[in-house]
Amino acid sequence: MVERGGRIYLSSPHMSGQEQQYISEAFETNWIAPLGQNVNCFEQELAQFVGSKGAVALSSGTAAIHLALILLNVGRGDVVFCSSLTFVASANPILYQGATPVFIDSTPETWNMSPEALKNALEDYAAKGHKPKAVIVVNLYGQSADYDRIKSICDEFEVPIVEDAAESLGATYGKRMSGTIGKFGVFSFNGNKIITTSGGGMLVSDDTELLAKARFYATQAKDSAKYYQHSHIGFNYRMSNVLAGIGRGQLQVLQDRIFRKREIFNLYNESLATIKGISFMPDVPYGKSTRWLTAMLIDPDNLKVTPCDVVDYLEQYNIESRPVWKPLHLQPLFKDSVYYHYGESDVSQRLFRRGICLPSDTKMSREDQGKVIDKLVQYIT
Ligand SMILES: *Cc1c(COP(=O)(O)O)cnc(C)c1O
Repeated sequence: MVERGGRIYLSSPHMSGQEQQYISEAFETNWIAPLGQNVNCFEQELAQFVGSKGAVALSSGTAAIHLALILLNVGRGDVVFCSSLTFVASANPILYQGATPVFIDSTPETWNMSPEALKNALEDYAAKGHKPKAVIVVNLYGQSADYDRIKSICDEFEVPIVEDAAESLGATYGKRMSGTIGKFGVFSFNGNKIITTSGGGMLVSDDTELLAKARFYATQAKDSAKYYQHSHIGFNYRMSNVLAGIGRGQLQVLQDRIFRKREIFNLYNESLATIKGISFMPDVPYGKSTRWLTAMLIDPDNLKVTPCDVVDYLEQYNIESRPVWKPLHLQPLFKDSVYYHYGESDVSQRLFRRGICLPSDTKMSREDQGKVIDKLVQYIT
């Protein structure tokens, strides 16, 4: 529980109590190893929850993205398109493979990848006789990207989608679950995500053959021989059986967490959206967001504070908040990368300059959230 006078977090681990049972089982059977009953069950339970044919439990979401790129044969000299407005982990695996990232802008309606900018980029590359090996589409802050349009564009150019659903587990896209639209979907169970295993990830797909290959690469790529023989580069990327036990307990309360995240968003929205110059990440018509983090925009034409000012101000009251992701095309790491913006403007840059993520911790009491809102109103207006 967040205690009175204690710190109010952006999003921190929130155990259900049921995790302990699965961890105990692992202890009692001495199954304190990677692999085991919890790993198998967690994979099956998550695949069933999202409606994919299979799932592979891994040590992180980043590992899942990396394996997806390997399975799509991304290598040196290849190009991979990626959303710009995201956490660096979406794109780092492109560099692990020696490939080149090309960044795609967001649309103001969804904050996610702009189908127009994506189409421009694909046409541009096609005109030069090239195409990317994959497009990594990120579902930001709990909300699916516009896949009707993104998928038909990618299908037209025959480029597979890796859906970075690290932030959108439990969100819907039409009748489907977020993370199941691309060739591969990626989830994260890092400590700040909607459910957590302290650290971990999952790769999902309907292609069970490729998922079997993912398991192979994730366990050091050992050939089927009586001795240790290796023909491929492998990784040590599997999730431990203990952590998978935490995941099983967490999955049981995912719907409760989504309900609470949306409640938190609704209270911010009701309390703050009436202030001139304040707006929130829009709700899209094609699916339901989990509102993993409530993201708010501060319009500099109406209000004289920046997101960084607000972060510093709230920090004085032991309240954690943070600016919206700094787009990857603006990162020193990617300073030489190609970027396709949306229309005349750079939407992701504008969202970064104006955007802030507010405390969205499901353990936060209504009283605590009231304090956050009071401080925000005092400071902003
Ligand atoms: C958290 C996150 C990841 C990485 O997941 P890890 O499990 O921390 O490796 C990737 N992409 C996005 C968008 C994320 O928010």
